[in-house]
Amino acid sequence: MNIIQKPSAHGGGAQTPNRIIVHAMGNQIDYQGNRWDAAEFLQKIGLSAHALIAHDGTIIRCRDDNRMAWHAKGHNQNTLGVEVLVENAHNLNELYECMEAHNWPSSRQLWSLISLVISWCEQHDIEKIQRHSDIDSPRKRDPGNGFPWEGFVRYTNFILQLKGINALKTS
Ligand SMILES: [Zn+2]
Repeated sequence: MNIIQKPSAHGGGAQTPNRIIVHAMGNQIDYQGNRWDAAEFLQKIGLSAHALIAHDGTIIRCRDDNRMAWHAKGHNQNTLGVEVLVENAHNLNELYECMEAHNWPSSRQLWSLISLVISWCEQHDIEKIQRHSDIDSPRKRDPGNGFPWEGFVRYTNFILQLKGINALKTS
């Protein structure tokens, strides 16, 4: 699994993560007349996530697990935020459209997400995993109806139980 570091200074102080929140955003975003990579765009607008996952499965780490990131309004304390990056979504309308496409994440992205979530569960007492849309609907729709959420959760929990780790709740 390829992991690269793009540290972000945007975020809060110490935390003890017990919940994971899964997001989606464009891989490259048009903003103020330029097109920015997702990590650069977040820097520009003062937001952050603990990790971003590119289409090829590369994991981009931006915040330490034990420091807050600014990824989910009202839910930034003791949570880990991961953004699954969407190809060809350069603005919000394109993102909404792409997130409806059946099984839009690449298989490499899903493998990386599963691996990341499992490693987080091995390192922290994580109780729950939720979509951004589960906690801030209708304002937030990510990761969208095309994201294979039920299968992802079922498979991740299957692996966790093989490892003797408690299954994640979703609500
Ligand atoms: Zn989100």
